[in-house]
Amino acid sequence: MADPDTPLEPLLEKFKGYSPDSDGALIEKAYNYARKAHANQKRASGQEYFIHCYSVANTLLDYKLDQPTVAAGLLHDVIEDTANGEDDMRREFGDEVTRLVLGVTKIEHLNFSSSDEETAGNWRKMLLATAQDIRVIIIKLADRLHNMHTLQYLSAEKQKRIADETLSLYAPLAQRLGMFQLKSELEDLSFKIQNPTLFAEVSAKLEQQAKDRAGVLDRFKKELDMHLSSTTIPYRLLARTKNLYSIYRKMSTQNRPFEDIQDSMGARIITDTVANCYAMLGIVHASFKPVAGSFTDYIAIPKMNLYQSLHTTVFSSDGHIIEIQIRTEEMHRTSEYGIAAHWRYKLVSKGKDEHFDEKINWLRQWIEWLQDLTSPREFLESFRTDLELTQVFVFTPKGSVKALPIGSTPLDFAYAVHTEIGDTCAGAKVNGHIVQLGYELKSGDICDIITRKNMSPKRDWLDIVKTARARSKIKSYLREKGVEGI
Ligand code: MN
Repeated sequence: MADPDTPLEPLLEKFKGYSPDSDGALIEKAYNYARKAHANQKRASGQEYFIHCYSVANTLLDYKLDQPTVAAGLLHDVIEDTANGEDDMRREFGDEVTRLVLGVTKIEHLNFSSSDEETAGNWRKMLLATAQDIRVIIIKLADRLHNMHTLQYLSAEKQKRIADETLSLYAPLAQRLGMFQLKSELEDLSFKIQNPTLFAEVSAKLEQQAKDRAGVLDRFKKELDMHLSSTTIPYRLLARTKNLYSIYRKMSTQNRPFEDIQDSMGARIITDTVANCYAMLGIVHASFKPVAGSFTDYIAIPKMNLYQSLHTTVFSSDGHIIEIQIRTEEMHRTSEYGIAAHWRYKLVSKGKDEHFDEKINWLRQWIEWLQDLTSPREFLESFRTDLELTQVFVFTPKGSVKALPIGSTPLDFAYAVHTEIGDTCAGAKVNGHIVQLGYELKSGDICDIITRKNMSPKRDWLDIVKTARARSKIKSYLREKGVEGI
């Protein structure tokens, strides 16, 4: 019964590679079960259907996910597409795996390209499934990835619809979860379908550019090695991978040619510890002239999607501009795999990542606030705004930091600090000066909220706030007070 396209052994080997204590029996069982269940089915490509399930499991293994998730990846279309029902799966695989499969199956039925109303409702359901178990959405993203890879067998119209949906909803969700590698892949695959000519052009130019720049990067590394020779800091230097779609987006939003956009090259320095990240930064700045104002410390202040690195830009000695990211191996993993990397980390060494719960809670909270928004349009808008990674960092007078979407106001900040601070907000000072409540906060602002006991949320605050959290809190207050039309 050996199948040359979908052999079991490599799956098990990959799994045991990061779970040496497990025999992978659950994966083996799911493999056999799913293969049998899909035995007579074919994909639109004419291939065996099981190849799809196999690829999804393979992606999940790349992300080093736990055994129930990989098993659920193999089984994810069984309830949907075969005669085997939920009861049988529960008997065979237990509650955890069945719950994951049902979560994915539910999302399968949702339609995200219909009316605003329906789309919003469906995103709510999807997010609810996510809130209960983040692994459901990771399986769904792996499923979407393989479907995007095999889209060419569908009608042109269907291809376009699926690519649009991937670009507008799945890729941003992957980005929000910090799963950058997956996000880039989803975007590039969609871009290829939406605009094959431009896609071919950008990828050819990138390829040529990589060849041209290999020499510059080589020389940079040689010089860096020289400056590092007196230290024992371990490091590796990587050329930065390019996301074709983001280059295209810059070209079209700034209306500039490829050559203008891609004028600087990217490099990554990966080392062992946080202390050595800063040591590397010192050496880089001492050896190459930094571009003024280019340094950002995402280690001290991580992005909302967990991302951490030091960013700086320097001139190489032959005059090229090089954008450098410095990070530890673990930060590197997080930057590629995002929340999935943390999920595994948590399983392997319980409690070691003390921020993990906080981050997952943040996601749950965010989904809860979104639940409160009544109109579908409002829901979709908040969803998209909050999903945008563009954000500002604003400090409390005591120096703790809040990350907010661009365009946020002191009211958003007040609600981000505490609901009561938001509810009793009477005014705000930014950097020591009184500002309007509608003031647009900038990174580095120190925001001091003035509260008064007898203050309460006003209806027109809804026109000022940008975040789902503030909006939901104001609305629930007004509703409680019986204000009409909320
Ligand atoms: Mn599927």
